[in-house]
Amino acid sequence: MKYAIIIPDGCADEPQASLDGRTPLEAADVPHMDAIAAAGVVGRASHVPASLPPGSDVANLSLFGYDPLAYFTGRAPLEAAAQGIELAADDWAIRCNLVTVENQTMRDFTAGHISTEEATQLLATAQERLGGERLQFYPGVSYRNLLVYRGAAAAAPFSTDTRATPPHDLTDKSVLDDYPRGPGSDLLNQLMHDSVAVFADHPVNVARRRAGKLPATNIWLWGIGRTPSLRPFAEVYGRRGSMITAVDLLRGLAALVGWRRIEVPGATGYLDTDYAAKGRYAVEALADTDIICVHVEATDEASHEGNVAAKIKSLEEIDRHIVGPLYEAIKSHGDYRILVTPDHPTPVRTKTHSHGAVPLAIAGSGIAPDDAQTYDEPASARSKLAFDPGWKMMRYFLEGTTTS
Ligand SMILES: [Zn+2]
Repeated sequence: MKYAIIIPDGCADEPQASLDGRTPLEAADVPHMDAIAAAGVVGRASHVPASLPPGSDVANLSLFGYDPLAYFTGRAPLEAAAQGIELAADDWAIRCNLVTVENQTMRDFTAGHISTEEATQLLATAQERLGGERLQFYPGVSYRNLLVYRGAAAAAPFSTDTRATPPHDLTDKSVLDDYPRGPGSDLLNQLMHDSVAVFADHPVNVARRRAGKLPATNIWLWGIGRTPSLRPFAEVYGRRGSMITAVDLLRGLAALVGWRRIEVPGATGYLDTDYAAKGRYAVEALADTDIICVHVEATDEASHEGNVAAKIKSLEEIDRHIVGPLYEAIKSHGDYRILVTPDHPTPVRTKTHSHGAVPLAIAGSGIAPDDAQTYDEPASARSKLAFDPGWKMMRYFLEGTTTS
């Protein structure tokens, strides 16, 4: 059996006054998603347990069929996996943003979308002045960098109770109450504090100020965790998977569960992503994988910008260039199943991720149709097919059957 999964990140939403009470999914012209709903079943799944933050990291872990309550250890370890940074059992990965803090206010969690080249220079200086064998700074892309605490020589002071606030939750807010806290936070706070002096007159910042750009005033540490010990997907579920995504979190997750990652030129993780290229690569990948999974970030980005029109447009692009071609192609491979589902809702009203159920549609071999004709939130709310916790959905998608 061949399987296809399409994840329009954060596409689940609320009824919009501007859309006469419809949700973006209802308003969007998505004939292929609707065809899957009509041919198969519509249901819902809750991927984020109440006790965990509603991030793509937690939600996609669940969507992949792993209980986040048992396996989620933080965002940074997933990103380390995406970058091929090996973590031993006693190592801790920490997300190391370059940020602009002014008067104890988070002016910009991206330090003015600092370039990768500039970030690499700052991280090299941080390594020289603040790092060592125990603390290793790894440049990533732009403001998204990592710090790894190597626990071989001296045990790390952190625990799963160590807390830190994502800097993107602090935009234009005071940071005073949101410095790291809990076990080992002294060390994190010291590093963040020391980085201020290290960066103050750094040539990169001198040049940025001169050019009228925001300086990287300091590092902001968060997303801390050890590498999760995930049993390979092939062992748990008996199938091989392949992943198409432009987002490091998803790449990392794929790497950790043993899925192949397929890089698509033109996949940006933003509204300008090359949808058609993603669709083409997905169709081609069907030949030598059991599961092809295509993740698209654009719907989530549109939500973060509070842009309903952009959200609808990206849903239509996904439907036309990815869902359509994949649904058509997978039928020629014999037995198949296809699943459309986001990881979590991202309401345009709040511009941020939320807890709660997301709609899903599954069609294919062994799936007898229910009476849903469209893929959207109202149809999913009416359905008897509900997965809570959501991580149980994967087994159903791969092996479950329904009878009419
Ligand atoms: Zn997400």
